[in-house]
Amino acid sequence: MTRGLRQAATSRNVGAAAVYLTSYLLLDWLSYVQPVLKLGITPWNPPAGLTLAYLLVFGPRWFGVTAVAALLSDVLVRGHSPISPTVLACSLWIGLGYGVLAAVLRRWKLAQPIRGAAHAAWFVGLAACTSAVVAAGYVAIVAAGGELPRADAMGSIARYWVGDLTAILTLTPLLMYLPAWREGLRLAAGRSWEVVAQLVAVAIALWIAFGTSATDELRIFYLLFVPVIWISLRWGLQGTMLAALCIQVALVILAQDEAHSPPLIDLQFLMLTMSATALLLGAVITERSDVLRRIARSEAQQRALLAMAPDAVLAIDRAGRIRSANPAAHKLFGEPDDPGAHVSAQSLLPALALHGEEGRAAIDGRRHDGTTFPSEVAWAKLDAPAGEGFLITVRDVSERRRAQEALRARETALARAMRFAVAGELASALAHELNQPMTAVVSYLRSLATLTEPYVAQDERIGSTLGKTTQEAIRAAKVLRRLRDFYRGGTSKRESVDVAELCGAIATAFEARARRASTELVVRVDPAVAPVQWDTTQLEIVLHNLVGNSLDAVMQREPPRRRIELCAESSEGSVLFHVSDSGPGLSADVLAHLFEPFTTTKSGGMGLGLAISRSLVRARGGDLLHELRGKLGGATFTARIPCKEQ
Ligand code: ADP
Repeated sequence: MTRGLRQAATSRNVGAAAVYLTSYLLLDWLSYVQPVLKLGITPWNPPAGLTLAYLLVFGPRWFGVTAVAALLSDVLVRGHSPISPTVLACSLWIGLGYGVLAAVLRRWKLAQPIRGAAHAAWFVGLAACTSAVVAAGYVAIVAAGGELPRADAMGSIARYWVGDLTAILTLTPLLMYLPAWREGLRLAAGRSWEVVAQLVAVAIALWIAFGTSATDELRIFYLLFVPVIWISLRWGLQGTMLAALCIQVALVILAQDEAHSPPLIDLQFLMLTMSATALLLGAVITERSDVLRRIARSEAQQRALLAMAPDAVLAIDRAGRIRSANPAAHKLFGEPDDPGAHVSAQSLLPALALHGEEGRAAIDGRRHDGTTFPSEVAWAKLDAPAGEGFLITVRDVSERRRAQEALRARETALARAMRFAVAGELASALAHELNQPMTAVVSYLRSLATLTEPYVAQDERIGSTLGKTTQEAIRAAKVLRRLRDFYRGGTSKRESVDVAELCGAIATAFEARARRASTELVVRVDPAVAPVQWDTTQLEIVLHNLVGNSLDAVMQREPPRRRIELCAESSEGSVLFHVSDSGPGLSADVLAHLFEPFTTTKSGGMGLGLAISRSLVRARGGDLLHELRGKLGGATFTARIPCKEQ
């Protein structure tokens, strides 16, 4: 703690001690009514309630201040000598007694304002025991000092005990609520007529109990409990204790008139019963209103949650009838023809078989209009007291099914197109490779025809066989060329391709594979990118090949470093698709023959992907380029696609 803070704390404690001492003296002076032999034994001892509240708030270590308060009170209010050993011992005993009670209450976390029945019961019990011990000790010290005849000891203990306990039960809980006085005042101001009516009721009850009949009897004192119970039900603990305090003050004023007041011990026990009842009842009511508020808050939260839930939520009873449904359920199933009729879960989910504590199922849901939809259902059993039955959530998965089917169809189309492209590249490569040998074969055959001319006259089969062989060789070369042209040129479509959508589709297609390979696949598309006029499937083939190669490349790295980026940006009438990865980059062997068919370093690779991709983009005016070390440390391939296909 800094010096400034420490100083502030000290001045706060000293100020509090001064306020406490002053209030103590004032209260003691005011309540010094009908004492036993000028001792500190009165029918009602509010300083004890103040002392306990002070020690609970500021800590039992301040018990010395409470002993000083008792001493000052004996000197100033009762005129005792400050150096009398009896007075000193009594003051110390009182301070110690309530210091121990405060320590116990703080230790058991009971030093806060009372808000529950159990807390109130513990408080009453501990206060009763401690005040009994304090009373017995006090009377023993006074009797030992010769200031009280031993014969009066038992009676004095009882009077002291009841006087202290009554004040503690009334005043301490009330004082603990003192910091919230503004709130209490605001509430009371809002219901001021009720407050006035309740005060009038208390006054009438007091008047009937003590003002009308012979006041030396407590015959109809129980009338006082009626306004107390009313106040308690409406205001909880604080209101009840305030009412009890008012009644006690009235009773103390009554006790001042010794001639007409009822027997003091009767009055004391009435006050004690009133305090204990008010405290316990007030605590129960406060606890009840706290619980009701908590329930209302949690119900409101649950209602809001259910209202916002995207899935339909149904609560059904044991008979399978729907008891409540959230707005999503109304939207999903529609409204029944007869809004008042009970709807069964079976009619909305015909194949539903609820069993066990919880479960899931993929079944069809049926709307009120009879149409059906595929759904995923989950249920959990509701036990008493929540009301036996089940809570069911229903998710309409038709949209997801449609998306999955579309994805599957797209993948099938892509695979077919890829096979076509592979065949084309293969044919092209074969045509390229076989062209020269075929030309050579044809030349050799023609030379052979010249060389065998003299023999043709002897056996004309030689000439015709050679002629046929030459024709077949020429035909084979033509077939290869035509095959290549067919695969290369055949299936191009021109359509407007949304670049962001295309990149998103590629990412979705690789999502599962990337997850399995612990690879982060990031897509970044410049929002300014215009759509390109191209064949979607061919573009997908190109990007598929590039991202697929990157995934293979990053597998050579450890998981946290596996990263792939697919970016798209505009550049001079073209869109550039960059595919970068954090793999090892292109090896020197590959680099010399990159983009040539059958160049591969993979055991199961065909070495056709890059060749096909470049053929596809070049065929329509684009290009496919590479960088040895891209921005993620591995290779970067860039497909330049003109916005308008050429
Ligand atoms: P394949 O994938 O069947 O091997 P490709 O033509 O797609 O055929 O790739 C040819 C070769 O280029 C690959 O075997 C690989 O060695 C190299 N390569 C392609 N992309 C990358 C990349 N992103 N990082 C490192 N090497 C690559």
